[in-house]
Amino acid sequence: MYKVLIIFFLFLRTIFPGWFVEKEICITLDDLPYIARYHYNIEYGSMITDSLLSVFKEFNVVALGSVNSGQLFELNKINYSKVVLLERWLDSGMMLANHTYSHKNIYTISVKEYCKDVIDGETVLKDIMDARGQKLKYFRHPYLLKGETKEKADSISAFLSSRGYVEAPVTIDNYDYYFSLAFEKALLQNNNTLMSKIGKDYIEYIEKAVKYCESQSSALFGYNIKQILILHANMINAYYIRDLLSMLIRNGYKFISIDEALTDECYKTKDEFYQNLGVSWLRRWAWTLGIKDEYFSGEPEIPEYIKKIVDK
Ligand SMILES: [Zn+2]
Repeated sequence: MYKVLIIFFLFLRTIFPGWFVEKEICITLDDLPYIARYHYNIEYGSMITDSLLSVFKEFNVVALGSVNSGQLFELNKINYSKVVLLERWLDSGMMLANHTYSHKNIYTISVKEYCKDVIDGETVLKDIMDARGQKLKYFRHPYLLKGETKEKADSISAFLSSRGYVEAPVTIDNYDYYFSLAFEKALLQNNNTLMSKIGKDYIEYIEKAVKYCESQSSALFGYNIKQILILHANMINAYYIRDLLSMLIRNGYKFISIDEALTDECYKTKDEFYQNLGVSWLRRWAWTLGIKDEYFSGEPEIPEYIKKIVDK
């Protein structure tokens, strides 16, 4: 019987090779220690952190969290209860990246100001990593903006390299923060029905975004690359990270670290996208390779009712 099953398995693999290709994904979360519009306080920050980290442990995920160290300061004084949240990330086996001190838009400031914000972003973060024998290696650009001219982008990229940084790319971009804002409003009203609906629609939306990026990846490289998903340390993910990771497993994904993701050759592709637009690296590469408009169509949309709740 066992032999028959193996032969059947090999037969299926020959007929449907796509079913057996291993899919890999790196989970990254930005705006640590936490981000919220209506619930920005240490109690919720602590809840968001605990919820994310306990699920990551359960699913053996080594996530990359990108920190805005400006968040750690209140009236020029360090708020140690927020530093503790970052220490929890490190002590749970996660990796941390510099996401600048104050999350400025590169388009609105000079190269000099941007570089200063990168250096300021090392405050506290570098110390807590040093204390654990970890090197601060990764950098995530705020708004996924790398510079709107070649000169600016090249200067910033050279500066980051000279400081030992590796840029953390994103291949699956999405609007998780929009869902989170709607979810926060539903939470304010204690509207459990609406919260559940937003959560369910959020997972469906992220699933569509993942499938969309898989097809973009196949169109560009002929295979599904080691994907890098961007999320935020926000309320929707605090409540729905388990459902989100389960959905990825259902879609055949295995979780990998950023180090493993970047071993994919695709990350050596040239990026000459110089615009004031925060887009995924798949889009940057496609643009650089001169791929036409059709490639960029069909991106999953946020449901209208979510936009209405947020804009109200
Ligand atoms: Zn950010």
